Amino acid sequence: MGAGPGGLCSAYVLSKAGVPAVVLEKAPFVGGLARTIKKQTEAGEFKFDIGGHRWFTKNDELNDLFREIVAEELLWVDRISRIYFDGKYVDYPLKISNALKAIGPVGSAVAAFDYARTRLRQQLRPQPIVSMEDAYIDQFGPALYKLFFERYSEKVWGQPCSQMSGDWVAQRSKGMSLVTAVKDAIVPSNGKVVSLIDNFMYPRNGFGRLSERMADGIVAMGNQVRLNAGVERVHRDGMRVTGVTIQTGDGPEFVEGDEFVSSVPLTYLVQIMDPPAPPEVIEAAKKLTFRNIITVNLMIRRRQVTPDTWLYVHDRNILFGRLHEPKNWSPAMVPGDEYTSIVAEYFCSFGDAIWEMTDEQLVDQTVGHMVNDLKFIARDEVIGGFAVRAPRAYPAYVLGYEAPLQVTKRFISAFENLQIIGRYGTFRYNNTDHSIETGLLAAKNLLGEHNDLDRVNADQEYHEIKRVPRPANPAAG
Ligand SMILES: Cc1cc2nc3c(=O)[nH]c(=O)nc-3n(C[C@H](O)[C@H](O)[C@H](O)COP(=O)(O)OP(=O)(O)OC[C@H]3O[C@@H](n4cnc5c(N)ncnc54)[C@H](O)[C@@H]3O)c2cc1C
Repeated sequence: MGAGPGGLCSAYVLSKAGVPAVVLEKAPFVGGLARTIKKQTEAGEFKFDIGGHRWFTKNDELNDLFREIVAEELLWVDRISRIYFDGKYVDYPLKISNALKAIGPVGSAVAAFDYARTRLRQQLRPQPIVSMEDAYIDQFGPALYKLFFERYSEKVWGQPCSQMSGDWVAQRSKGMSLVTAVKDAIVPSNGKVVSLIDNFMYPRNGFGRLSERMADGIVAMGNQVRLNAGVERVHRDGMRVTGVTIQTGDGPEFVEGDEFVSSVPLTYLVQIMDPPAPPEVIEAAKKLTFRNIITVNLMIRRRQVTPDTWLYVHDRNILFGRLHEPKNWSPAMVPGDEYTSIVAEYFCSFGDAIWEMTDEQLVDQTVGHMVNDLKFIARDEVIGGFAVRAPRAYPAYVLGYEAPLQVTKRFISAFENLQIIGRYGTFRYNNTDHSIETGLLAAKNLLGEHNDLDRVNADQEYHEIKRVPRPANPAAG
């Protein structure tokens, strides 16, 4: 269920093992959040991810799988990411020399003093790390937290960091701290290796090619990927799934199966059970929340806007939180060298001021920020723009989310023949590599292994600190 990277990976691995499988996808396309959208214009074709997606993982098996699937379309991309705040640019992830230069000698002294005080206090009277605010302050001290983390996190989550769980920080940046950033600045990394921070793999024609190529492979191996086939009911006999009802263009259809793998939103899955899940499970699922994202895609007649892979925009007067320039990832994302494009990411919730804006207003807003606030482009360089809405893109780790999640997962894990995978499928802030890993392990379980999918993305170590050798011929992967 679901033809995002997770669901497709399960079916791809099963297809390679000769097991019959069918992928049921609600949308008319594959790729889910990791898809690439094509836009034809008079100038030619522009391509846009739903916010730039880079491939990175410490897991060699997953890297091999990625290379196998993307094959001759593989590119290595150098990453330059920066934070824009109060008119200044700072490297991201934080490089300490650059960050301290941006905040000046007095700001640096305050940051260092604050950090030392926090560490000392934690040594003498250790406090539990509960909220996102606690976690950032523990790692970077109050001054750097306020400058570099608070405003952006609040844009992403739409809530004060004191209301969000520290788990997110633990999953994203454990092992990163002011101390490791200083160490990194003093002891530069060995020239023979690169960190996951500096380079990443990317498919030449957009990240969505990963999913499209898996789908092609599944079909070529004799299995099916059914689009416009949204799952509306999951039929069960006790704790065994007997089949699902899908909604197709020709009406509802019952699809039988022996084993089921779901990447559809976990909160939705428990609400479409027939007979229904117990009321306390449905209540628990309803307590889990999420954030939406809208990407605004601008097509621009200009060679380049920024050198950045990503630019994180902290200023509150600029409504989007992050932007990227697809051409900096792959030249094939734009129709020719005289063109470029920009994707701006707006984090929002159903019913809030951003979600309620029309697509035209969002495009206007973005052009206004690009021209007047960031001073990146002239208005007449924009040859077109459109918005893409992606609901439920971010499972939200709001304080107290753990208990309802446990109730929901306990119910699902009691099924004999149902495994949950992916990002919203497991309600875990999984990147594509984790989503693919859960898909891979679910398939391996069906082939006789006994893997615990819940251990994926649970190591709580910073994802980006493994140093991986770069291949001799990067273009060949
Ligand atoms: C802005 C942004 C940037 C990101 N950047 C990166 C990055 O740089 N690197 C990275 O690795 N990851 C990144 N990610 C995360 C990545 O997008 C996800 O990890 C990945 O797409 C999750 O794959 P999935 O298969 O679990 O879910 P999804 O991609 O969400 O796919 C789920 C699929 O299920 C389908 N579906 C839903 N309901 C039903 C139903 N009832 N019946 C049938 N089908 C259904 C959906 O249509 C969808 O196709 C980013 C995400 C966002 C939002």
